[in-house]
Amino acid sequence: MCCSHSFEDKPLPGQKPEAFDISAVKGMKFFDPHVHMTSRTTDDYQAMADAGVVALIEPAFWLGQPRTGIDSFRDYYSSLVGWERFRSSQFGIKHYCTIGLNSREANNEALAEQVMEILPLFVYKDGVVGVGEIGFDDQTAAEEKYYRLQLDLAKEAGLPVQVHTPHRDKKHGTQRSMDIALEHGLDPYTVIIDHNNEETVKEVLDRGFWAAFTIYPFTKMGNQRMVEVVKQYGSERIMINSAADWGISDPLAVPKTAALMKLNGISAEDIELVTYRNAITAFAQSGQIDEADFGVNIDQSAKFEGNSILRGGQQPRVDKSSIIIS
Ligand SMILES: [Zn+2]
Repeated sequence: MCCSHSFEDKPLPGQKPEAFDISAVKGMKFFDPHVHMTSRTTDDYQAMADAGVVALIEPAFWLGQPRTGIDSFRDYYSSLVGWERFRSSQFGIKHYCTIGLNSREANNEALAEQVMEILPLFVYKDGVVGVGEIGFDDQTAAEEKYYRLQLDLAKEAGLPVQVHTPHRDKKHGTQRSMDIALEHGLDPYTVIIDHNNEETVKEVLDRGFWAAFTIYPFTKMGNQRMVEVVKQYGSERIMINSAADWGISDPLAVPKTAALMKLNGISAEDIELVTYRNAITAFAQSGQIDEADFGVNIDQSAKFEGNSILRGGQQPRVDKSSIIIS
């Protein structure tokens, strides 16, 4: 859930962003460990594949419209392990997901109870690489209750945890999220603390957690700030994501940030770690990620439960070789 921000104190864009010059990172591979593809069009998959994104993680999140019944959750989780994974595969991008009850929806306790009952049916499925994104939004008692219950579920399932940190009172919310994870006996090396900024990164790294950064226009991190963070803190246990969703966001944030890092003299090795390798290392603790699965051949004539991604008379793209450029 990356969409609970307010625009009150941030200016809306006054001008169009500069065009993305892919030449600086041409040939590099990227892993976006946090992107809400359900909210995106199929064109975004095409653009991500063209920019070198070979795999991604889609965390379960809040759709904006409040869900009123358990079947909405069931269908949503099913789409994350079903249709969405298929749609991604049609562009040669390996799709993983994390499954969880997000903090905003934890505040509807009657429904949250029912969601907790079905979560075990999904977290053990193929391609589920963690419990997420969970944590705090408003830091209510209900949010804490379901955060704790889901930490226990992650521990039982042997899965990493993807923690959403709140937009309001972020520093305190981040500290509390880490304290509680430790209280529940989780190894910080299995916990990815997301949406960090300059205020939280040092403590997250010092305490042994993974520090993820969301490059998201206007509300989280800009990629020029991100360049400075990597210059200061290096590349160990740091990863970058787009968290692109139905808000004003950018599914090319990872390759664009890589390009900016390259232009600012950050080494190719450090760029590879923060835009590809570290996310794989962290989430592969699920036992669900195998790089050999990346870059599958594209066959858009394939169908998922009888449905294709093609509309009308569109012609399928069928590639004979991998789209990986190496
Ligand atoms: Zn999110």
